[in-house]
Amino acid sequence: MRIAIDGTASAGKGTLAKRLAEKLNYSYIDTGALYRGVALMAKKHGIDWYAADELGVLAESLQFQFRWEESELHIYCEQEDITSQIRTDEISTGASIVSSLAPVRKALLKLQKQLGSKSGTVMDGRDIGTVIIPDAELKIYVDADPIVRAKRRQKQYRAKGRDCTLEEVLADLMERDERDKNRETAPLKRAAEAYLLDTTEQTMEESLAQIMVWISSLRTKT
Ligand code: C5P
Repeated sequence: MRIAIDGTASAGKGTLAKRLAEKLNYSYIDTGALYRGVALMAKKHGIDWYAADELGVLAESLQFQFRWEESELHIYCEQEDITSQIRTDEISTGASIVSSLAPVRKALLKLQKQLGSKSGTVMDGRDIGTVIIPDAELKIYVDADPIVRAKRRQKQYRAKGRDCTLEEVLADLMERDERDKNRETAPLKRAAEAYLLDTTEQTMEESLAQIMVWISSLRTKT
């Protein structure tokens, strides 16, 4: 089975996708890491995050690899482990910007389609069920109330020692969702056949249990 998980920022996609892959013994592909990688490499090469054509050429030239090391998914670009470098606030903003550019999305399409073609894969992002694996056996669209999402993100920031107001976090989330939903190429939207998972009032375990119910019902149908 190929499982496509899309949804809004901080709705819980990444953690859910990773936990689900572990539970099913599937591979997990974090496509956001690729856009983050492009934003990071653009910064290293001194390329502006809005320079669409230049970024398309750069993204086309980059070699990305995913590797599991000590139960952590690592991403390599040009043989360098960039896993921690892509998780900064600056690169999060950069990834949101570069991913809105058509040449960048086009450059990363082939690799993602190739990674998503294998059975036994959980892939998460914004256009997985609509563009990357539109024929995935299971598609899920994850969302939650914006305030709840902002509170979750604020908690993650605080755990890392960063203090910020709920208003600031909420504004950042809204800006990213707007960019993802309104871009011309592969905007974020719920695929017609995607199950809607609203995590507002759910714990991670409850969300996982819900997904396992969907998987069981699909397995009994086939
Ligand atoms: O999921 P994550 O926050 O790591 O993704 C970083 C950024 O990349 C997101 O803000 C989103 O704009 C973009 N993205 C995308 N399409 C994907 C995955 C991520 O546009 N398939």
